[in-house]
Amino acid sequence: TSLADSLSRSVERATNTVSETFFEPTLRLGVTGLSRAGKTVFITSLVANLMDRGRMPGLVAQSEGRILTAFLQPQPDDTLPRFDYEHHLAALTARAPYWPEGTRAVSELRVSLKVRPSGLLSGLQGPRTVHLDIVDYPGEWLLDLGLMEKSYAEWSEDMLERMEQRPDPERFRTMATTEAGAAKLEEPVAQRLAHAYTAALHAARAEGFSDCSPGRFLLPGDLAGSPVLTFSPLPPSKAVRGSLYREFERRFDAYKARVVKPFFQDHFSRLDRQIVLVDALGAIHAGPRAVEDLRRTLADILTAFRPGASSFLSSLFLGRRIDRILFAATKADHLHHTQHAQLTAIMEALTRDARDRARFAGAETQAMSLAALRATTEEMLPHEGQTLPVVRGTLMSTGRPAAFYAGDLPEDPNHILTTARQGAERWLDGDYPAMAFAPAALTLKPGEGPPHIRLDRAAQFLIGDRL
Ligand code: GDP
Repeated sequence: TSLADSLSRSVERATNTVSETFFEPTLRLGVTGLSRAGKTVFITSLVANLMDRGRMPGLVAQSEGRILTAFLQPQPDDTLPRFDYEHHLAALTARAPYWPEGTRAVSELRVSLKVRPSGLLSGLQGPRTVHLDIVDYPGEWLLDLGLMEKSYAEWSEDMLERMEQRPDPERFRTMATTEAGAAKLEEPVAQRLAHAYTAALHAARAEGFSDCSPGRFLLPGDLAGSPVLTFSPLPPSKAVRGSLYREFERRFDAYKARVVKPFFQDHFSRLDRQIVLVDALGAIHAGPRAVEDLRRTLADILTAFRPGASSFLSSLFLGRRIDRILFAATKADHLHHTQHAQLTAIMEALTRDARDRARFAGAETQAMSLAALRATTEEMLPHEGQTLPVVRGTLMSTGRPAAFYAGDLPEDPNHILTTARQGAERWLDGDYPAMAFAPAALTLKPGEGPPHIRLDRAAQFLIGDRL
């Protein structure tokens, strides 16, 4: 049936594509990134700026005055949660603004743009409507792709090995023994193991480690507590029927078939464009190990954009594929603009392997630094006989204004990456303080979107060619 299924899906998809291209073209934009990378803020500010069109000079159709209106419409997917745009925008634009709750699961929003055609056609054709379907989903879920081609035994081995490098592996390890696996399945034991494993993933996340699979253990959505999420890696054991090991193996397979596969099939494989948001500054602050872990995790995440890399994925894509991918370092407003080029270079280096491969697979890629919502202003501050380029904003911790110097990012990004790869505990020649600013109170004039850095350039790369 799976062949018949795929065929009928591809016919259905082809038919949709034909009718969409001739009448009202639809562009499906995926927005992803690990938790707290900035997805929610990005989508909210992008949509607000598209709707108001006040601060989008870098979006060519906008600067040419061809975007006549932008409006929200009911999305085409009836069973998918809607991205809670109004709520999130209200948080960011409140009199005392606050950051909205981040992404926990997949959601979608349709923005429709009425656009006057450019060039030769402009005199002949009236305005067209282009639908932009924005699909928000946790980057953690992409990591699960790596599970599809692994057996339970292989995955267990990988994860147990990785845990050795991470904070406090003891508690889980003392529970996850060969004997425990061989013993008869007892649900309370299964739950204790799953809880301890999940706690270890959370602890690793808190220390800046990124690869915490399975993705749904951290962001379970409505699957919390269900058997597909109640397992953990175990060392190999001579497992017999009815043993804990056998049951965990079965649950792992169910997780792949019932959780991972439907996500890739129903959402991921239908995207046209993708932005991958990365909190590179956050990882740099956390230290060399976190940067190395981020680099590896990105490489894993990005295999999802190489359909050829996985037979599972190639079976889903059937001709359609993502043709533009933007890798964006977020929260660039934590840095004075004189350092943005260095941040972009680090972003480029972090994603280099993956970008080379994506290009090979026919997708155009770009790296960029942006701030979806600018929370700081820039200043030059005298300091010990020099002037330092600093940013000023309201600290989350104290609610007071403060000026921050982010540290000197090296000209050569390999400096950062090599130190990270060598597994150093700390940076040798720099200190990069943690920063968390509250969103600034905005006084927006009518038609003005929230302030940002290069959000318009990101939009141009992602959708500009279709407007
Ligand atoms: P998500 O988990 O990927 O949806 O991440 P969010 O969009 O919720 O962002 C996580 C946090 O990062 C926010 O609560 C803010 O503290 C911070 N953040 C996100 N975008 C920006 C930005 O453009 N500038 C600044 N200064 N902070 C940001």
